[in-house]
Amino acid sequence: MLTGRMMDFPLTITHLLERARTYFGRSEIVSRLPDKSLHRYTFTDFYRRTCKLAQALTRLGVKPGDRVASLCWNHSRHLELYFGVPAMGAVLHTLNLRLHPNDLAYIARHAEDRILVVDRSLLPLLEKFIASVPSVEHVIVIPDDGPAPEGRLDYEKLLAPEQDSFAFPTLEERSAAMLCYTSGTTGNPKGVLYSHRSCVLHTLVECMNDTLGVSESDTLLPVVPMFHAAAWGLPFSAVFAGSKVVFPGPHLDPQSILDLMVAERVTVAAGVPTIWLGILALMDQEPKRWDLRSVRSMVIGGAAAPPAMIEGFLHRHGLVVTHAWGMTEMNPVGTLARPRRQHENAPQAERLALRATQGYAVPFVEVRHVSDAGQVLPWDGETMGELEVRGPWVASSYYGGEGADRFTSDGWFKTGDVVTLDAEGYVRITDRSKDVIKSGGEWISSVALENALMAHPAVLEAAVFAAKDAKWDERPLAAVVFKPGQSASKEELAAHLEKSFVKWWLPDDYVFIPQIPRTSTGKFLKTKLREEYGEHLVKQQRQNG
Ligand code: AMP
Repeated sequence: MLTGRMMDFPLTITHLLERARTYFGRSEIVSRLPDKSLHRYTFTDFYRRTCKLAQALTRLGVKPGDRVASLCWNHSRHLELYFGVPAMGAVLHTLNLRLHPNDLAYIARHAEDRILVVDRSLLPLLEKFIASVPSVEHVIVIPDDGPAPEGRLDYEKLLAPEQDSFAFPTLEERSAAMLCYTSGTTGNPKGVLYSHRSCVLHTLVECMNDTLGVSESDTLLPVVPMFHAAAWGLPFSAVFAGSKVVFPGPHLDPQSILDLMVAERVTVAAGVPTIWLGILALMDQEPKRWDLRSVRSMVIGGAAAPPAMIEGFLHRHGLVVTHAWGMTEMNPVGTLARPRRQHENAPQAERLALRATQGYAVPFVEVRHVSDAGQVLPWDGETMGELEVRGPWVASSYYGGEGADRFTSDGWFKTGDVVTLDAEGYVRITDRSKDVIKSGGEWISSVALENALMAHPAVLEAAVFAAKDAKWDERPLAAVVFKPGQSASKEELAAHLEKSFVKWWLPDDYVFIPQIPRTSTGKFLKTKLREEYGEHLVKQQRQNG
């Protein structure tokens, strides 16, 4: 091999940080605090405080590779951790504040966190599990809603005496930068250890015009929590590009988000469908109240964005949704839905349908789908199989080695998502493999049924899941939440579905509930629905003799 003669310059988060200091010192970072006031400072302030943080952690004995955990909302001090910890060579481990204390204890023990940084407003949660995590030597309290209690280290007091410059070490690009745990609904959460290189490459691609196009002129609002798959990489992209960043803190209700979008003239906002469903409902009630002309893209992912929602935002409010698919195991963006030039003259309905798919793979991510028997399937838009991915920001194993069966011998990661792929590469998720409904040996897509139900004018949300059936093994059952003050009969819902589906796909029954149970990251918790209603049809059948 003739080796190229170019510098072996490491791709590290440190470079993103130094670039922000050099060129974008005046960009702003705005955070909403628990009392709803806004805190703002510049990238110059941010850089200086990141240096102070790195020194303070060094003083506490943090060494390269050590895990520093955060239990925080989205705000500027969390961003300081996002950069200061990896740039000093340590690893930021983001803890999900929506998890049960037992899960948090398990994860923090598994990660062997040495330092834990927590928002003061989250101390009641911390107190429920910290005693069972012996590896944690210091708890540092961010005084977000008042001073740190006696006996605990205060983040501000810790930073105060430090210098505002720091000689960040030169790091290997393959060294670990962040540790994120999956929010597995079955089995223990598993750790995914991102490298500097994976974060940087992901950032570059996220800033491409044909993906999210994050740029210096943007104002980003990551509603997606910084504890969920690195807030989809947006904190890194914002600092790299020099964008203004707006953090919502703990205020995630639709009105607070909308007010913030207007006040700060947000251009790109990102979050899970639940957040956007609430926002759409509110905007429909008061269509003229919020002037969102600054918004160029609303990024929705983490669970399937219902087509009716994408259409509602576009047609009723002129807002464009960018539907994205990703996973904690991938840093996390994998595919993104944008119509391409060849679709320019396609009818609007067709373009909208493309926007509702999970999209096609972003650069450096490769996809394929395989049958149960491991056979690679055709890209025909019809054949369902499990999606597999590979690329420079796909996990090569889990931290700790669990889940080895998710990695194939020929170098792919098994996502657990059941999909079709069409000739143009668009991925359509039909299910999680454990949620797929197997009726008489045939597969029924719960996602397709849910999307159609959510297009009914009276339906706010719907989850379709497998219920046991004496004859067919499993049959679909739908759990439906109506919009306030609205309802529809089972017959009406069935008639609505019949327009789009063959008869044997239609749910055998509907249960009307006040809300769909959710996971800690906002996905439908179908295990809970199955637990509760799994025997529903069998019981009905028994009653009917
Ligand atoms: P997480 O690791 O928590 O981000 O969860 C990843 C999983 O969320 C994926 O494997 C999918 O099952 C689901 N998911 C993420 N984005 C989407 C999307 N746009 N549409 C459907 N499912 C999604």
